Amino acid sequence: MPNADAAVIAAPERVKAVEATGLLDSPASPALDRLTRLTTQLLGVPASVVTLIDRDRQFFAGASGLGETLAASRQTSLDYSYCQHVVASAKPMVVTDAVSHPLVYDNLATLKDGIRAYAGMPLIDSNGQALGSFCAFDTKPHEWSERDLQILHDLAQAAMTEIELRFAGRLLEEQGEQLRALLDNTDELVARFGLDGALTYANAAWRRLLGHPPEPPVAGYLQSKLSGVGRERFDAAWADAQAGEPSDDLELGLLLPNGDTALVQLRLVPVRTKGIARGVRVYGHDVTDLRRAERAKDQVISLVSHELRTPIGAVQGAMQLLERLLPSPVPPKVAELVALAKRNADRLLTLVNDLLDLDRLEAGSAPFEPALHRMAEIFTTARDATQPLAEQKGVHLEFGPGASVIFGDATWLAHVVINLVANAIKFTPAGGHVRVHCVEDEGQVQVRVTDTGRGIPAADVGRIFERFAQVQRSDATEKGGSGLGLAIARTIVLQHGGRIWVESEVGKGTTFAFTLPTRLAAP
Ligand code: ADP
Repeated sequence: MPNADAAVIAAPERVKAVEATGLLDSPASPALDRLTRLTTQLLGVPASVVTLIDRDRQFFAGASGLGETLAASRQTSLDYSYCQHVVASAKPMVVTDAVSHPLVYDNLATLKDGIRAYAGMPLIDSNGQALGSFCAFDTKPHEWSERDLQILHDLAQAAMTEIELRFAGRLLEEQGEQLRALLDNTDELVARFGLDGALTYANAAWRRLLGHPPEPPVAGYLQSKLSGVGRERFDAAWADAQAGEPSDDLELGLLLPNGDTALVQLRLVPVRTKGIARGVRVYGHDVTDLRRAERAKDQVISLVSHELRTPIGAVQGAMQLLERLLPSPVPPKVAELVALAKRNADRLLTLVNDLLDLDRLEAGSAPFEPALHRMAEIFTTARDATQPLAEQKGVHLEFGPGASVIFGDATWLAHVVINLVANAIKFTPAGGHVRVHCVEDEGQVQVRVTDTGRGIPAADVGRIFERFAQVQRSDATEKGGSGLGLAIARTIVLQHGGRIWVESEVGKGTTFAFTLPTRLAAP
């Protein structure tokens, strides 16, 4: 019996495309059934079917006018299939009388089911794969008219559109499921709000932290969850988001179902379709534990620093006493050990003092006495403190005139300049230059400390002002730094209402610059 070209029918690409429709073995599709019913009515034939040709069977995705058994099983082996020939050729097939048709005269549908006439249109997907046939049957010979074939062709197109739409719908659903799974498996908080603050979507992390959203959504829900911490910044950011502006990270207190407050870091991102604001997406994470740990760490640092200061002083005192009591001449090995112990005690004291300074500055408990000062005053203090270091290192140190007047605390500002100059000397080889000067610029004074030293790699420029940030590990051991100097300098400058930054080129040198309010800008 002439079955269709098996290689074409069983081609993996084609079979995969048939499976991808999701229609094989699925419940009957009412839309496809309707199209076949329309065919029987318009063409005046007893049966019409939408077949999908699988590897070794034909499946009826939609049908009208089939006998009970076929209507129930919705499939046959290929021995009963006329439609396989439509798929194999990817062309319409018209059979006026099956008895004399070379491809189907001995088909089991002809021999056993009494089929005598057939017209089928290939169902070809957008990738060019023939999936099946949209066809009409008759149980007696049938002359198919132009009009019949035109109708069949049009309805086949409609069936193919329906099949591809279903496929696209399924794809969308799958993607939606994947996205939901992704959103529900992250610890990040993700939620979506209407412009009125009603919660319309919350991922699992959000629901775990804040409970299930009310059903139906309630206007002002997000606002009702605010504990008060960060409220003002939130209100401004919310108004911006409604107007279409995304926010920076906000730190907010949110009320939990158990009455506690969580500290969360959130970002508001407007949702817009075709330029019209529709809502606000919120992304963020719970920073409660992080902040608690930070506070605990700060407390420990502060406690330890206080506790260490006295014993370090005692060690320094003991070392001095020891030096005096040692019988002279002091054996070189002993002298070396005592010097090492002294150096380490000094380093520890610097570290502890720096930590305490930073602690007090950040807590706002450092004595702060702002007044009008000429920069020259501050430069003199800084020069006295750093000149010996420069001479010892063989670095040429030069201070500008410092005629500008600033408003600030002279002691702390000298601390900043000393720190920047000491760093500059430290990281500049013998014979190099360090220059300090100030310029007035738009109502501000800009102080610049420029060196001809090793420079700072671009990758480190962003983090250099953080606590304990050092470019090389050896900067702590060999150069004796604590990694706190710049963090302290930044805190002091910020508390003066200024800005501090670094400009650097590796191998050429570095400029640290900061601004201070002038007399005019003083409060
Ligand atoms: P430290 O006590 O280590 O000097 P700082 O906070 O003052 O701590 O500086 C942090 C790090 O920044 C230094 O360890 C060094 O790696 C780098 N740094 C600071 N100033 C300079 C400079 N003028 N030239 C090159 N690197 C510098």
